[in-house]
Amino acid sequence: MVKETTFYDVLGVKPGCSMEDLKKAYRKLALKYHPDKNPNEGEKFKQISQAYEVLSNPEKKRIYDQGGEQALKEGGMGGTGFSSPMDIFDMFFGGGGFGGRGGRRRERRGQDVTHQLSVSLEELYKGTVRKLALQKDVICDKCEGVGGKKGSVEQCQSCHGSGMQVQIQQLAPGMVQHVQTMCGECKGQGERINPRDRCKQCNGRKTVRDRKILEVHVDKGMVDGQKIVFSGEGDQEPGLEPGDIVILLEEKPHEIFKRTRNDLLMQMQLELVEALCGFQKVVRTLDDRDLVVTSLPGTVTKHGELKCVVGEGMPIYRDPFTRGRLIIQFMINFPKTIDPAIIPSLEQCLPPREEVIIPDDAEECILDDLDPEQEARRREQREAYDEDEGGSSRLQCATH
Ligand SMILES: [Zn+2]
Ligand SMILES: [Zn+2]
Repeated sequence: MVKETTFYDVLGVKPGCSMEDLKKAYRKLALKYHPDKNPNEGEKFKQISQAYEVLSNPEKKRIYDQGGEQALKEGGMGGTGFSSPMDIFDMFFGGGGFGGRGGRRRERRGQDVTHQLSVSLEELYKGTVRKLALQKDVICDKCEGVGGKKGSVEQCQSCHGSGMQVQIQQLAPGMVQHVQTMCGECKGQGERINPRDRCKQCNGRKTVRDRKILEVHVDKGMVDGQKIVFSGEGDQEPGLEPGDIVILLEEKPHEIFKRTRNDLLMQMQLELVEALCGFQKVVRTLDDRDLVVTSLPGTVTKHGELKCVVGEGMPIYRDPFTRGRLIIQFMINFPKTIDPAIIPSLEQCLPPREEVIIPDDAEECILDDLDPEQEARRREQREAYDEDEGGSSRLQCATH
């Protein structure tokens, strides 16, 4: 005879049941009321855990059977003397919880889905709205995510609704390990639907594939790699908070302009006469305006020289009336040859030559063409050869 049956009742077992029955009862209830499955049943989960803690311990069970919960409290084993329900659970199931403790929070939320969106520099300059057609899972509206007729969903018999199966492996006599695996019967769903009652629209899957058009607002001044987040627009799944759809902007290269942050860089070709005698050029902006670029009279533009136009660069994100600079690099086209007949008159216009005194014993030499690109190619080949040969050829060069 036992004094009280509360703990037995909590677990749904009879006093005098076997240890095996006790474990079975705890496993079933703990999985059912685990906070991951039943966040509102924390109190129930705690009661199950405390009952199991007492009844599975021969010493505590003896005290409880003789004197009830009061006797446990007096013995320092009731009240705060209980272990945390989560520890009991983890101990019982080998420490994993549902898929490991760290994974708990993530499991409650679906995955984010990232899509790349290629945009032109013009679109980033002017801003645009792009429509993007996507496929995503949505909760089936016919069965409202149940997967079948209301009440047709049954708990999986193999795993008792947990979606997990616990196998006991004997490591050594008296030493067992509990191994959790996904229930093969229900594929981890914890439930099954009679094929007859299955929802025709989603075929019991609870979700259907749907086409969704997203309007992506590309704001002025957005940059390559910037993310536009559509919160909660990811795939839907019953019982899960959907993840986000993330649009990742990818800036397409532009024929004329190169962007560095808020500045636009371009090269402008000038004829030699323009470099020396002045020029006027037209630049077509990314929003199709024409800018006239004029050199100051009397200035000479050097090859490779940089100039800038303030306020004609990229608009700044969230401050689109402010813009960066347009930086122009001038490239001078020198004539290949010059008619020797016009040299004297040219010389008259240009600053005079510095006079050179040539010593009597100076040697004449030939100026060969040197193509830097060809030079670089030759150097690469030589280095590749050196690598093939190991360090020896380099050493030879040094001792030559
Ligand atoms: Zn359905
Ligand atoms: Zn199952």
